[in-house]
Amino acid sequence: VSAPTYACRDFVEDVTAYLEGSLPPERVMLIEAHLTDCPHCTEYLREMRLTIAATGSLAATDVERLPDDVRARLLEAFEQDSD
Ligand SMILES: [Zn+2]
Repeated sequence: VSAPTYACRDFVEDVTAYLEGSLPPERVMLIEAHLTDCPHCTEYLREMRLTIAATGSLAATDVERLPDDVRARLLEAFEQDSD
């Protein structure tokens, strides 16, 4: 992994704030660097944006509220990527 300062699990925590634009610029840079190198998080972000588009609400996009199949698939991808 070429971005040791940022982990997929961090993105799960940060994605809502990232989409809200409420993260500090340094954090956004870390995330965007990670995204260029991580298909899992790119997919996760895409799913989150689709969820927002579908619900019209960022409040409904907590990972706990993603459809079970989407969440399970993403978490599985993260597991496989994390070691
Ligand atoms: Zn990632």
